[in-house]
Amino acid sequence: MSELAYPYEAPASQALFDRAAAVTPGGVNSPVRAFRAVGGTPRFMVSGSGPYLTDADGREYVDLVCSWGPMILGHAHPEVVAAVQEAVARGTSFGTPAEGEVALAEAMVERVAPLEEVRLVSSGTEATMSAIRLARGFTQRTKVIKFAGCYHGHVDSLLAAAGSGVATFALPDTPGVTGAQASDTIVLPYNDLDAVHAAFAAHPGEIACVITEASPGNMGVVPPLPGFNQGLKDACAANGALFVSDEVMTGFRTSRAGWYGVEGVVPDLMTFGKVMGGGFPAAAFGGRADVMAHLAPAGPVYQAGTLSGNPVATAAGLAQLRLLDDAAYAKVNAVSEQIQGLVTEALSKEGVPHTLQTASNMFSVFFTDGPVRDYEDAKAQESFRYTAFFHALLANGVYLPPSSFESWFVSTAHDERAVQRIADALPAAARAAAEATA
Ligand code: PLP
Repeated sequence: MSELAYPYEAPASQALFDRAAAVTPGGVNSPVRAFRAVGGTPRFMVSGSGPYLTDADGREYVDLVCSWGPMILGHAHPEVVAAVQEAVARGTSFGTPAEGEVALAEAMVERVAPLEEVRLVSSGTEATMSAIRLARGFTQRTKVIKFAGCYHGHVDSLLAAAGSGVATFALPDTPGVTGAQASDTIVLPYNDLDAVHAAFAAHPGEIACVITEASPGNMGVVPPLPGFNQGLKDACAANGALFVSDEVMTGFRTSRAGWYGVEGVVPDLMTFGKVMGGGFPAAAFGGRADVMAHLAPAGPVYQAGTLSGNPVATAAGLAQLRLLDDAAYAKVNAVSEQIQGLVTEALSKEGVPHTLQTASNMFSVFFTDGPVRDYEDAKAQESFRYTAFFHALLANGVYLPPSSFESWFVSTAHDERAVQRIADALPAAARAAAEATA
């Protein structure tokens, strides 16, 4: 599809994108922002308020990406902004311990029962990378099981068959990852416990951990089948491996205690990011105290960070977590259900084959008859319909993830006006999806 095929223009964004392309590879600092999967000009946003983003051309969008999850209270929530302003005025980084880090860790431990201790880091990638190193150090083993379509950040050993941008661009492998790193990673189909048991049988005493998204959102939303996560936990326990649940996306979003709060399966280690940073770079890993005791300076497994536990990021995260009470989750869940209903209705009315899948308030639409249980199912969708659907919504002021391999996110700020804007935009988008050709 050439750019001229799009029904509107974004000259200010295009000018910024041209400038960006001259100084940044592909014009973006994270690949999925580049619109490569859907084509067209990525929108350069200048401000966000509640459920809305405004781009450089002055167009306002209802935001269904929410910064890929973190903005669960909407953009520029006044109490989060106030906490940040107060923190900034006291200094932006000390390089020493500070109370904010303790308070954020306490708030997390209080919410998530299996989290006995946490270590703060600055990105989800750092969290999973460090959790894997710790699992290897603790078990004295090398191999890691991951699932196709799950994304755990751009950790060398975890990029094999990853979701998110790796899925969007259908990258089979990433140059720069060595054979040794890749060969220590065992990639299995998601939701397939038999494959997990077979892998443990084939590699006795070699597997350090199984890492999984607590409920995957990086191949679109593909929740675990009943018993899958418990089965992983049991297989790990039976084989001396650790069960690592990646809650970077689901943590403090799918419930007060994340996906753990929904399902109750107890991991050995967990990773977090997104919501806990309140829109700032804060992330964490944690879990069993006896495992965490192996981390430096308490133990021999090294891990560190100049900006870990940054005072501004921890203030933002703490303010956000404090506002996320039961009423807030009830609100996010309700508005998510409302939007899910509108999407299903519009697509059904136009006879578009689709499957809407949910994990609490996370959801996504696959343009295929479902169910979608793993990455192979997800890849079988008619993504060309998503492209048409995406652009029709964008043209009418609704901002979806620019890829069909991503979850959609809503916030407490998505009010009736925002929902109405989506409802108004959906019929034309559903028609566009129906009429789309490969
Ligand atoms: N783990 C999961 C489940 C994620 O969704 C992501 C990012 O989307 C990451 C890890 C990596 O986090 P970050 O982008 O902060 O490095």
